[in-house]
Amino acid sequence: MAPVTTTPAVASSPPVNVKLLLIGNASVGKSSLLLRFSDEQWIPEDEATATIGVDFKASLVHKMEVNGRRVKLSIWDTAGQERFRTITSSYYRGAQGIILVYDVANRETFDALPKWFTEIDTYVSSIVPKIIVGNKLDKEHSRQVPTSEGQAFATRKECLFLEASAKTSVGVREVFRDLVKRILETPELWAPVTPESGGGKRGDGEDGMPGTIDLNGRTAQGDNWGDACAC
Ligand code: GDP
Repeated sequence: MAPVTTTPAVASSPPVNVKLLLIGNASVGKSSLLLRFSDEQWIPEDEATATIGVDFKASLVHKMEVNGRRVKLSIWDTAGQERFRTITSSYYRGAQGIILVYDVANRETFDALPKWFTEIDTYVSSIVPKIIVGNKLDKEHSRQVPTSEGQAFATRKECLFLEASAKTSVGVREVFRDLVKRILETPELWAPVTPESGGGKRGDGEDGMPGTIDLNGRTAQGDNWGDACAC
C-alpha cells in the first residue's frame, strides 16, 4: 500500500481509534477480505482453509487516513466462531462499525443476513454503521444473488452496500474506506465528550492521554504512523 505523506495539521491531531467487526456465515470470505485489505495478499482457494482456518489471528491493526483524519483500525475476524452457530457477546463489545459479508454465489449466505441482524441488534447500538458486502464478485458465472437484491436489502436496513472480491481485490479497499467515512460522520461513536457537552471521558485523546480512546471500558492507544496508508 502507498505510504502516507502526513500533513502537519493531520499529524497534530491524535488518531481516531476504531473497532470494526467482520460478520457472516462461514466461508463467505471474511478472513480473505481482511487479509487482502491488510496485506494485499491472496491465498489460493485450495490452501485457504488449511492456512487461515480457525487459527488465523482474530484481529489486526491497520492505519489509514480518511478525509484528512488519521484512523487506527482494529479489525476483528470471527476466527471461525460462526461455525459453532454463535458468536459470543464479548465479540461485539465496543464495535464502531460492522462489515456483514455474504457470498454472491451462495444464496444461503445471503438468506442468513436477517439472522445476523437479529444478533447485531441485540448487542450493538443502532447508530453503529454497517456495510453489507457481497463477496466473491469474481464468481459472476455462478452468481445466485443479483446486485439489485443485495442493494435493496441494504437500503431497507439503512446500511451501506458494496460488492467485492477478495480474490481479485475489486472493491475491498472501498469497503473499509466507506465504512470508516460513515463512522467519522458519526462523532457520537468516537469524539471526545467535552465538559460543555456533559458526560465522562471518551474520545480520541483531547480529554485523555493523546491518542487514547476509551469505549465501553476498553482502552487502546495510538502509535507511530510510518506505515499508514491513505485509503
Ligand atoms: P471465512 O470463513 O468467511 O473467513 O472465509 P475464508 O476467507 O476462509 O474463505 C473461504 C473460502 O472462500 C476459501 O477457499 C477462500 O479462498 C474462498 N474465497 C474467499 N474470498 C473469495 C473471493 O472473493 N472469490 C473467490 N472465488 N473465492 C473466495
